[in-house]
Amino acid sequence: MKFLFGPVPSRRLGLSLGVDLLPPKTCTLDCAYCQLGRTTCLTLARERRVSQEGVLAEIRSRSEDDFDYLTLAGSGEPLLHLGLDEIIRGAKDAIDRPVVLLTNGTLFFREEVREEVMEADLIVPSLDAATQATFERVNRPHPDLKIDEIIEGLVRLREEFVGEIWLEVMLVKDLNEIEAPLIAEAVERIDPDRVQLNTVVRPPAEPVQPLAPEEMERMLEVFSGAEVIASWKRDLSKKTEVLIIDLLSRRPCTLEELGNLTDLHRNEILKYLEVLESEDKIARLRHGENLYFQVKRG
Ligand code: SF4
Repeated sequence: MKFLFGPVPSRRLGLSLGVDLLPPKTCTLDCAYCQLGRTTCLTLARERRVSQEGVLAEIRSRSEDDFDYLTLAGSGEPLLHLGLDEIIRGAKDAIDRPVVLLTNGTLFFREEVREEVMEADLIVPSLDAATQATFERVNRPHPDLKIDEIIEGLVRLREEFVGEIWLEVMLVKDLNEIEAPLIAEAVERIDPDRVQLNTVVRPPAEPVQPLAPEEMERMLEVFSGAEVIASWKRDLSKKTEVLIIDLLSRRPCTLEELGNLTDLHRNEILKYLEVLESEDKIARLRHGENLYFQVKRG
């Protein structure tokens, strides 16, 4: 099994080599804006779903590659992998680049989960709501998750973790923007090193709307000291871009089909689709439950 993807240019982390520890899409949430589609395994159960040794062997084999960060991310929520501490420690032994954990932050209210991430260099959690109603609207969580406990968990993490925490807030038109002042209060309590405001980038699987650039600018007044995540450099592989265009010119494909046809990870393909869609070269097409991408003609 292939656990690593990229390196891909990340808006926050330069060139990031991704590690995927989960079968798609295993998550504690089913966010309305998720680029990976609906969550098929909504769970709070932490398990070893992939081979620990297999992951570490693959990381060792890429130790000489050119990348800035090793990022635990992927097809769902990395905190659902039991034994994250062994992966982080093993990765740090194998490579001399910082190890980053991208997480939705929902499980930090559990002490044993916080303990497993202490050796990461950087944790990038997210928080999109401050009340249970908004949490359920934007993140569609597992029924046992409570936003108050999650916020407390993030406060605890800040107290115990010595590395940097960059907290991301995803703002979605009509879903959570109204709650921004309350989210900002929670962020202040958590006191991360950086606060990064984001909005929906295309292509999410569902028709949710981003905030306009001027609305994002106004949000900087609500979240003091925050930054809006800038567009990442478009230094993607030309060869892969041509391959994706070629495939989509033959017939519309879903994200999953593109993954099978190109042997690339979904998260990597999403970077290309995002750029191709912003350049008006491809369009999306919804058919029943499925989201297809197709080349724009003439
Ligand atoms: S937490 Fe991330 S992977 Fe999970 S549903 Fe939300 S956006 Fe998707």
